[in-house]
Amino acid sequence: MSKGTIERVAVLGAGSMGHGITEVTAMAGYDVTMRDIEAELVEEGYDQIEWSLEKLEEKDRLDESAAAVLERIETTTDLGEAVADADLVIEAAPENLELKHDIFTDLEDLTDEDTLLASNTSSLPISDIADVLENSERVLGLHFFNPPVKMDLVEVIYGEQTTDEVAEAGYEWVESIDKTPIYVRKDIRGFVVNTVLGPFGGEAAWMVSEGEATIRQADAAMVHRRGYPMGPFELADMTGIDIGYHVRKEADDPIPPIIEEKVENETLGQKTGEGFYDYENGDGADYEPGDGDGFDTLRIEARLANRAAYIVGEGVSTPEEVDTGVRLGLGFPEGICRRADRIGIDTIFEKLETLRDETGSDRFEPHPYLEQLLEEGRTGEDAGAGFYEYGTDENGLDSYHNLNADLEDGVLRVELDRPERMNALSEDLLAEIDDLFSGVDTDEIRCVTIEGAGDRAFSAGADISGFASTKPTDMMDVTPAFETVNDFPRPVVARIDGYCLGGGLELALACDLRLATERSQFGAPEIGLGLIPGGGGTQRLMRILGETRAKELVFRGSHIDAERAQDWGLINRAVDREEFDDVVEEFVSDLRNGPPIGLEVAKKVMNEGEDASMEAALAMESQGFGLLISTDDVLEGTAAFAEDREPEFEGE
Ligand code: NAD
Repeated sequence: MSKGTIERVAVLGAGSMGHGITEVTAMAGYDVTMRDIEAELVEEGYDQIEWSLEKLEEKDRLDESAAAVLERIETTTDLGEAVADADLVIEAAPENLELKHDIFTDLEDLTDEDTLLASNTSSLPISDIADVLENSERVLGLHFFNPPVKMDLVEVIYGEQTTDEVAEAGYEWVESIDKTPIYVRKDIRGFVVNTVLGPFGGEAAWMVSEGEATIRQADAAMVHRRGYPMGPFELADMTGIDIGYHVRKEADDPIPPIIEEKVENETLGQKTGEGFYDYENGDGADYEPGDGDGFDTLRIEARLANRAAYIVGEGVSTPEEVDTGVRLGLGFPEGICRRADRIGIDTIFEKLETLRDETGSDRFEPHPYLEQLLEEGRTGEDAGAGFYEYGTDENGLDSYHNLNADLEDGVLRVELDRPERMNALSEDLLAEIDDLFSGVDTDEIRCVTIEGAGDRAFSAGADISGFASTKPTDMMDVTPAFETVNDFPRPVVARIDGYCLGGGLELALACDLRLATERSQFGAPEIGLGLIPGGGGTQRLMRILGETRAKELVFRGSHIDAERAQDWGLINRAVDREEFDDVVEEFVSDLRNGPPIGLEVAKKVMNEGEDASMEAALAMESQGFGLLISTDDVLEGTAAFAEDREPEFEGE
């Protein structure tokens, strides 16, 4: 089988998931046929794709026109026609095993034996779906999240018979459509993301059922104290309380009484107007930050970590995969393995044992993998190892969790890696930036670039979810990260594509040069929150833009586009997306090949001179000049000039 050559894709089902999967497949350049059972359903799905593509086009998020993408999509109600030439078929029909069996039985007859057969099921085991096939090696799970066009994650699931070759082909295909795959190497119920998520709502429901907490207390604590994007009850109301109920029933898990009661009364959440909160006569999820005091968040997080231990311990996925899964799939503020390492594996283990002994419930039984970590002394970050190893790589770079740093050929490329939160600057991310820029060996570096992961933002601001729980006095401490970047002895280039707002703008201002795509947006929206830009934002804006423009940006709090940002001198260049990489590389190449000491002195003298009197600034300049004149780089520079060749600076 040659699985590396997927050209045509067929998607079965034009519903919520099917049309979204079709859309992202076509956006990535594949020809795709979408099939549903009735013409009307196919049309509805197609109309939704058209609407969505037009929206993306308006926001300049397509590399081509919406019409060009649509041209790659065909629709049909005929299964044979849909899959005849397909190299990959993705089934996204309703969640019903018998129906899926019928579809896969037909697929075995109608497709070439090289064709990959994938199901987008969220809860049925892939092996159960595949067992109607004579040869089920080519069946795998490709579990997209809703809506596919926005959600980056896809779980790539092995059924019992799936070969590595098939799973790898699926994984590579997911990468080729610009999504982030994670392997689920064993066909466990709920795969990775939903397995971790289970106790988030489940344990909270037990605590409320047992009178140990209130609904608002649980939601407020998990959101405002622990940074989750939604509280467990708010989330259940949004997805439907009956959905979680059925998942638990199927898994034979005991059901917390409060969930049983809601299902009996048919108050199932937002869709029925009432669930844990009242959406018709009340204000919906109306908890306040202070409501969360006294809630035992560790009880929930210990269980989440125990699920992660099960997944890692059983060889289903790696800690990195679990963490990518919960961050991209659920918007968790950080990976659960990472969080467990910070809480301490010993603390989690003790918590689980205590709860097990107190309640007698086996849901607190620590997974043997946690015990193994403890035996190996891997109790978490403080001990240097837990789920992860904490150390330095061959370039002396620490292992980071919120950013990626890669040093090659003198260029340190830094990527803010929280795409699920538009690279919002959390306290942890800022601490990592500070640590990186203050600890890295500058001798190895000629220049630095900073960019945002994902395709939406450089950074959309500070992570406000952390704010409400922070004491005002803590917030007054200006994070050192921006100063560390500003003072870094090598040129730092902000590579901006998308939103660059609030804290993100402040970080960009701390860089020396700013290059942006034309679609980028800039702004200091803090005033809308009753705040002012921090991290030196107000001051650097005054210096860079002058009072007139700086005050407009800060007082009005509205966005400006890249063209205006360039006019105002906020950025060095606004560039078409297609040319962006080339323009950045031209800048990087000049800085990388420039004289390191000369650039260091220029940066220092220009930064520091700005705050000094002209006289003092000129003194700094001439001192810098004097220092440079005796360097080998100046000899090399002048010799190269005389010999009409490119200089080769050594930084000496
Ligand atoms: P949906 O009901 O919105 O769409 C299913 C579509 O499949 C319908 O239009 C239906 O007419 C069509 N269909 C029925 N029989 C078919 C057949 N034989 N061939 C082709 N199409 C057929 O459902 P959905 O939410 O898109 O879910 C589809 C699958 O994706 C399910 O397995 C579900 O578990 C999974 N899933 C759903 C979500 C979600 O949030 N909705 C997320 C991830 C995975």
